[in-house]
Amino acid sequence: MLTGCTPWPDETAEHYRQQGIWRGEPLGLLLTQAVERDRDAIALVHDDRRITYGELDDWVNRLAAGFAHHGIAAGERVVVQLPNTPEFVAIIFALMRVDAKPVFSLIAHRDTEVDHLVRLSGATHYIFPEAHRGYDHRALAARIGAENDLLRTLFVVGEPTGDMVAVDALAGVDDWTPPPVDPSDVAFFLLSGGTTALPKLIPRTHDDYVYQVRQTSAVCELGKTDVYLTALPVEFNFTWGCPGVIGILAAGGTVVMVDNPSPTLGMPLVERERVTITSLVPSALTLWLEAAEWTPADLSSLRLLQVGSAKLSPAMAARVTPTLGCDLQQVFGMAEGLLCLVRADAPQEVKLSTQGLAISPADEIRIMDGDELVPEGMIGELVTRGPYTIRGYYQAPEHNARAFTADGFYRSGDLARLTPGGELVIEGRIKDVIIRGGDKINAAEIEEYLLADDAVTAAAVVGMPDELFGERSCAFIVPAEVVPTLAHLRSSLHARGVADYKLPDEIRIVTELPLTPLGKIDKKALARTGEVVPS
Ligand code: AMP
Repeated sequence: MLTGCTPWPDETAEHYRQQGIWRGEPLGLLLTQAVERDRDAIALVHDDRRITYGELDDWVNRLAAGFAHHGIAAGERVVVQLPNTPEFVAIIFALMRVDAKPVFSLIAHRDTEVDHLVRLSGATHYIFPEAHRGYDHRALAARIGAENDLLRTLFVVGEPTGDMVAVDALAGVDDWTPPPVDPSDVAFFLLSGGTTALPKLIPRTHDDYVYQVRQTSAVCELGKTDVYLTALPVEFNFTWGCPGVIGILAAGGTVVMVDNPSPTLGMPLVERERVTITSLVPSALTLWLEAAEWTPADLSSLRLLQVGSAKLSPAMAARVTPTLGCDLQQVFGMAEGLLCLVRADAPQEVKLSTQGLAISPADEIRIMDGDELVPEGMIGELVTRGPYTIRGYYQAPEHNARAFTADGFYRSGDLARLTPGGELVIEGRIKDVIIRGGDKINAAEIEEYLLADDAVTAAAVVGMPDELFGERSCAFIVPAEVVPTLAHLRSSLHARGVADYKLPDEIRIVTELPLTPLGKIDKKALARTGEVVPS
């Protein structure tokens, strides 16, 4: 395995192989097999481009040979920062074909993050678009190139400047054959989703990711007739492989790419391409539910909507099927590994209020309080290991010592409990607890109560410095029509039987909840804003 990564212990790896969990298949094989089954089927759709499996395979081959010709060698890290376009898919498969290791940067990243990713990964190449949403990525790349001596080539999707190489101009060479790919080695690096520190790199192997895709595809019953709308960023684990883009390509279905989760763009595409499945975060779901009331688009092809990445309130979950006419699948996921998905045949209660069952019988889930297991059914930190959960971040020994237990369990930082049926219910995050005096207040819990109030369309509870309590709880509210008073919200929560110490000390009115580049609510930014509403 690539130096700087933490492999699974030999006996565990052997066990996974013996059980048929790891089958020694590189991710590229999933595409190759789909190509062999039907070259003429449509693999990718973007705007008015329609790319068949045969065309995608030829494109990947040409790019792979071109990358090899330009000196990208097996094992080298390549930072890839591209929007939701077919180029992303072709380039990642091409890099995997030369056994290079793509590092998935977000398109929203700027100098600090890209520079960090280049340094942390020791990248020798960087691939980026000419521009995106008015931002000049060539200028960004030129600055990154000037600062990082290890970077040998800047590849641009679009027109090159200076000594940049245009991805479009890459041509194959006759005498090139792809190197062998070790399926137990890294396929690509995903990013950790922390809100404070710069991202850490998550090495995902071919074996573990093929398994993740196979399991999630089975749960979602993916088939050749499925059409997946990539509305969230393609470089998210959720969109890329849960089962997402890779799952659909492995099944021989069609991936429709759009660069924005807005229903204004997505809903007409659902009608035009007869989309059957898509994935959203809860904040985007709110927009889809609103838009469903007025859109003329025919959404009847949609059979499954995956919602994950953040807590979905049961109230909003209950609106999905009646409003959008499709099944709801809650997804709990983390780029580090563990995935839980609600099954299609689960009772309604399970669909609305849980994040489902782990996708593998080999997933080991523990709910802990420090180093102790909590009693069954109680809330604690979700700690996990398994055949597709990493054993360590890349080049991060000190952080790994804290983030993993001695026996290889990943400490997720999420607060969760397990139902008697084994479904995971996320109850918050350890880092998101407000300590008010001696009392602990779970922000996600209070947010759910606030959201249930008609006066509130979005809410985030943040701990603010307080002389008396150390921290006091502040509710940042996006109001519906009438701005609610603190007294109203406190009595509304009180009426639900919420303990007094959990009632917000303060409310602040905001027009929207700011998000981090990874799409989480940015509570640090929030803490600096908002108009205080008198009680
Ligand atoms: P990421 O690695 O960026 O996918 O973020 C993973 C984190 O997102 C998890 O550790 C959780 O904190 C959060 N998360 C993912 N799915 C859910 C969900 N369905 N409900 C609540 N939080 C979630």
